[in-house]
Amino acid sequence: DGGGNVRVVVRVRAFLPREIERGAECLISMDPVMQSTTLHVPNDSDPANAKARTRKVVEEKSFTFDNSFWSHDKEDRHYAHQEEVYNALGEEFLDHNFEGYHTCIFAYGQTGSGKSYTMMGTPDQPGLIPRTCEDLFQRIEAAQNETPNISYHVRASYFEVYNEHVRDLLVPVVPNQAPYYLKIRESPSEGPYVKDLTEVPVRSLNEILRYMKLGDASRTVASTKMNDTSSRSHAVFTIMLKQIHHDMETDETTERSSRIRLVDLAGSERAKSTEATGARLREGSNINKSLTTLGRVIAALADPKHRPGGKRNKDIVPYRDSILTWLLKDSLGGNSKTAMIACIAPSDYEETLSTLRYADQAKRIRTRAVVNQDHIS
Ligand code: ADP
Ligand code: MG
Repeated sequence: DGGGNVRVVVRVRAFLPREIERGAECLISMDPVMQSTTLHVPNDSDPANAKARTRKVVEEKSFTFDNSFWSHDKEDRHYAHQEEVYNALGEEFLDHNFEGYHTCIFAYGQTGSGKSYTMMGTPDQPGLIPRTCEDLFQRIEAAQNETPNISYHVRASYFEVYNEHVRDLLVPVVPNQAPYYLKIRESPSEGPYVKDLTEVPVRSLNEILRYMKLGDASRTVASTKMNDTSSRSHAVFTIMLKQIHHDMETDETTERSSRIRLVDLAGSERAKSTEATGARLREGSNINKSLTTLGRVIAALADPKHRPGGKRNKDIVPYRDSILTWLLKDSLGGNSKTAMIACIAPSDYEETLSTLRYADQAKRIRTRAVVNQDHIS
């Protein structure tokens, strides 16, 4: 049965040098048994939380999640390395992909909270995306020896949603040329998709990692021109896995197709009023449109009245109000097993509370995944 709740995990990162410099205090504690995360009241000496302290509602808050990953100090025996995050989440999701389910893992949180570190990682500390790719090709190689009657076909694509436009990250950026944006279409069988998106066949781990880096570089190239796009854009890396199984005895061929979607969302912090002028305002409000719509979609889906199968579901969930939610429709409320990784900074009371509340709401969303299998002859 593919019906289930969105899996929600939270991860707190280590202090950055600038936080150590200002003597920031860690406001987070986690209980490894209960998988709970507690946000503590900031004390009086940390200027970063001065604003939060002036509000009356500042109090200790606890939430439980499917996992609470403590990545704050390496000395702690509960420290969650990239490997532990993969083992607790990525590996199981890849199991589902081989069973024929679509999956989606998305990272949510303010800029600097560790979304890209968790999804992409660094060359020394690879994150979920490269680990998924590595495990995928390891499993395919092992299976090819054991079950020669199954053939495996992998394709990859990578795009970003920036300012309500879709940009193909596997098409090189041409200097001094206007960026080329793609359109969204919707098909009855596939749902919403990006028209003319580059989808490359990949045969090896090295090949897929090359495309991953190419896309990442494309995201960075644009970001130096456009005021740090990477914190304002949503990056969607997709792997399509097709398994063609030929049954020797019955001479039947079946095909299983699954989609692995790995999403690094734009920073969730509210647009600061000081930069909300002119072009930046338009840009900001559009970027917020995808994130605020995501919030509305999550709120609608979390309401038990509007769960899949609910009568009014179709009319109420505002998927089509933004590019991101339209494209992620299936992943958020349909045929997908989905996980959200809420990334939090250790010493920002207000933003962390908002992220934890968001994550807490996402726990109530149910999706209905089916095995995508067809007899083809
Ligand atoms: P985001 O993508 O949410 O804006 P990043 O992933 O770029 O944030 O993280 C901000 C900084 O914190 C980076 O320098 C990153 O290397 C570091 N960082 C984030 N999470 C961790 C972690 N779990 N362990 C060590 N460093 C981390
Ligand atoms: Mg990032």
